[in-house]
Amino acid sequence: MLVVGLARTGVASALFCAGRGAHVTATDEKPEAELATAVDDLRAAGVTLELGGHRKETFLAQDIIIQSPGVAAEMECFVAARDAGVAVWSELELAWRFLRGQLIGITGSNGKTTTTSLVGHILSNAGLPTLVGGNIGTPLISLVDLSVETSRTVAEMSSFQLETIDKMRPDIAVWLNLTPDHLDRHASLQLYGQAKARIFENQTENDAAILNADDPETPRYAPSGPRVHWFSRERRVMTGAFVRENEIVFRQDGEQTVLLRRGDIGLRGEHNVENVLAAAAAAFLAGAPPSAIAEGVRTFAGVEHRLEFVAKISGVEYFNDSKATNVDATLKAIDAFAGNLLIILGGKDKGSDFTALREPLHRRARVALTIGKAAEKISAQIAGAVAVEAAGTLERAVHMAHEMARPGDVVLLAPACASFDQFDNYEHRGRVFKQAVRGLMAEGEKKAS
Ligand code: ADP
Repeated sequence: MLVVGLARTGVASALFCAGRGAHVTATDEKPEAELATAVDDLRAAGVTLELGGHRKETFLAQDIIIQSPGVAAEMECFVAARDAGVAVWSELELAWRFLRGQLIGITGSNGKTTTTSLVGHILSNAGLPTLVGGNIGTPLISLVDLSVETSRTVAEMSSFQLETIDKMRPDIAVWLNLTPDHLDRHASLQLYGQAKARIFENQTENDAAILNADDPETPRYAPSGPRVHWFSRERRVMTGAFVRENEIVFRQDGEQTVLLRRGDIGLRGEHNVENVLAAAAAAFLAGAPPSAIAEGVRTFAGVEHRLEFVAKISGVEYFNDSKATNVDATLKAIDAFAGNLLIILGGKDKGSDFTALREPLHRRARVALTIGKAAEKISAQIAGAVAVEAAGTLERAVHMAHEMARPGDVVLLAPACASFDQFDNYEHRGRVFKQAVRGLMAEGEKKAS
């Protein structure tokens, strides 16, 4: 077998298979010098290495190829291998074949990490043996040896991982929403949707599918194999989770169970109510009692870089939503505040339409500060709806916002773009933002003393 791409997931997959006696070759476009110490571990495990590029003959000579998440599926070697009948799997497929216990898969355009972490938090709170991984943090393959028959493994699943499954079948599959994202990598919204819908493809009547009844796109993908459960903020669904006045209720076979109170939800924004509805439904179906669900939601602190509160300086609050890498996430972030926003927008454009931001910015924002490569496009698309200031860099945007803000205002980083023009990734961007904010605090203290 061949493992393509030697970042963390690829290395873990290659070591896993070699450890089980497979003849493994691993390849990466990067030369050995750029692949750090992993290369020594792979060699020691008997893995054959082809570095600094890919060889088509090697691809064609395999039974199975494991494709790492970061590697482009359209690459000619993959196409040739597929045409020749070689099985191309994501690491998700590989891991599923060895994992013990129950698998809870979570996909969607936005909210995957939040919901995955929340389900994990609730289940471990309920005392169930819980593992959390996938597209978030630990690769699933690294959890295999930790799993036992009673395990609940909660896995974030990206469309890229789902595109290359074969028989992978979650016991519980959650699909949160579908909004335009990654259209630079998927040919159309429909193909992106079809990739995500594969999460249900192999499920049977003993499995559960959980879908968002309020989402305009996903209901049409409701599967016929598994039992379908809905979640809704707006309607009282026949089967699934919904809001009933101040409570979140789960209904199944006509029986209603109160899972938690709305007041238990500490996270900001209506989109987080959706995440909680989905997570509570999944946790309930996975065996968590309502008391543990309520307690788990109450004690969930949220995830870094997702509407994360940073500081309050001179009456102005600063929030880091660096993970808002697309327009929809930014819309949700704006919606989580009553108004008085100074919002930082920009970065690497993914072919987005920023005009959708016009109306909410007009209502809720006092100024938009633009940064990065997409600054001009954003500025042109939101001009007239809100005041726009070109800041260039994130640090400068924070300083400008600090100068302009009045007590009661909120400075929000929710850039609606990827980060790769100026940063390594969104985490890096979030950390730079937080550092700049903390720098303001330090400056303030100096002035005061
Ligand atoms: P993902 O892992 O799918 O990227 P995250 O939980 O990391 O999801 O959140 C990504 C971004 O989307 C954040 O900016 C967050 O505030 C926003 N977000 C979270 N949940 C939702 C949701 N259900 N709908 C829309 N946006 C959301």
